[in-house]
Amino acid sequence: FLQKIVKRRQKVCENVSKFKFNKKRVKVLSETQDFSEDSNGVLYWMSRDQRIQDNWAFLYAQRLAMKLEVPLHVCFCLVPKFLEATIRQFGFMMKGLALVEKECRDLNIPFHLVLGEASKSIPAFLKEHNIGGVVTDFSPLRIPMKWVDDLKKALPKDIPFCQVDAHNIVPCWEASPKLEYGARTIRSKINKQLGEYLTEFPPLVKHPHAPKQMPKETDWVKADGSLEIDRNVKEVAWAQPGTEAGLRMLESFCEKRLKYFGTDRNDPNKQALSNLSPWFHFGQISVQRCILTVRLYRSKSSESVNAFIEEAVVRRELADNFCFYNPDYDAIKGTNDWAKKSLDLHRKDKRPYLYSREQLENSKTHDDLWNAAQIQLVTEGKMHGFLRMYWAKKILEWTKSPEDALADAIYLNDKYNLDGRDPNGYVGCMWSICGIHDQGWAERAVFGKIRYMNYQGCKRKFDVAAFARKYSKK
Ligand code: FAD
Repeated sequence: FLQKIVKRRQKVCENVSKFKFNKKRVKVLSETQDFSEDSNGVLYWMSRDQRIQDNWAFLYAQRLAMKLEVPLHVCFCLVPKFLEATIRQFGFMMKGLALVEKECRDLNIPFHLVLGEASKSIPAFLKEHNIGGVVTDFSPLRIPMKWVDDLKKALPKDIPFCQVDAHNIVPCWEASPKLEYGARTIRSKINKQLGEYLTEFPPLVKHPHAPKQMPKETDWVKADGSLEIDRNVKEVAWAQPGTEAGLRMLESFCEKRLKYFGTDRNDPNKQALSNLSPWFHFGQISVQRCILTVRLYRSKSSESVNAFIEEAVVRRELADNFCFYNPDYDAIKGTNDWAKKSLDLHRKDKRPYLYSREQLENSKTHDDLWNAAQIQLVTEGKMHGFLRMYWAKKILEWTKSPEDALADAIYLNDKYNLDGRDPNGYVGCMWSICGIHDQGWAERAVFGKIRYMNYQGCKRKFDVAAFARKYSKK
């Protein structure tokens, strides 16, 4: 499976210097685009896309470095904390980065783990290594966008700085120039451009211009010591970090679960999902690679392949669109007027149950399905996709206000899900609690016009008792 992927890349061309790179993937952030003649390197500041192959940002940086005949460096800026992330997520990320470092070494590309924010550490790094330009990847989230903006301000005026969307298939800014109303309005825009962007990747190769000296290997124990995070939420064994483990998960999906994806993806008792979201979130595998691979199974299960493309391309890229164009992507004020009005109208409605964040976190509600979903989240680091909707909607029903509901859902989602702190997460919570990308439904208490979900409906869809048994508190 992995060998076939390597061969497909090699078939495209020998290396990226011979590849016609689609410049629409690239945004020049600096005033200058010119590399100084006497600099001696290009830097890829890796952030959201933590992988070597199938990474348009890394490929673009190598292409520049090959053209200029200079060394290529990679750095990752490790911050001591990030939103609600715990050792569960930091551990997964750092182990993945250690594998990136190893692979970089074999490719003549020095990897540098830098502590602290980019704007503080990268300018000095550029001077020290006489680097002539910086390439980075793209995230639409507030904090990473600020890191990029701060570095842009901190860089000397003569240093070119580019950003490449290496996460989306159609670059976020090309998919649409504005905030989209929903899947219905973005789908055709993305589909129209897939021919142009959903192409095979060239390989990232051993870099022909080695630096004078390779840096010392990263002290990952020391790096771990720099973190100021919650260490009580344990790492999980089912999801092994790194690109290879992610591609193995893709292999098992294609071979075993894909054929059921079309029919069974809403049944939490069945094994029909890809389970790829942790690797997608940390950019350890590329969604584009997964789509290229899954498409090869179309003749066997076209319904499933189409459904997977709808989720992993249209819904996922819609989430990036929402966060990129809506600064209030995680707040009630970020939703549509109809939803805000409706939630406001029902603000004072009597809630059937009221739970504190602590009760929710400890699965102490009256609802065995909800508790089981929460236990799955806490113990496995990934709640089933269908249950995430039910889970978040019940938080709306059982907390004091929509604001509290959204804050609690985001807090729990980001703390326990390996794939948390992702545009998909903010959009998932906003869809469930305040109706974004949805329409108004029949009015009812607490929810107003927000789509409602209930226990009986779940019972009609799957064996609720079996799921509740599996995840009951021992
Ligand atoms: P699969 O069903 O195999 O789908 C493959 C990929 O498609 C996913 O990895 C994801 O990238 C994308 N996808 C699937 N469903 C959606 C969706 N509804 N919206 C956007 N993209 C989608 N996803 C996250 O990645 N991180 C989160 O923190 C997150 N939190 C969520 C919270 C709530 C309340 C809701 C309703 C949804 C949330 N989702 C989140 C979206 C979705 O539930 C997960 O992407 C999915 O469950 C991940 O599992 P999988 O990779 O096995 O999914």
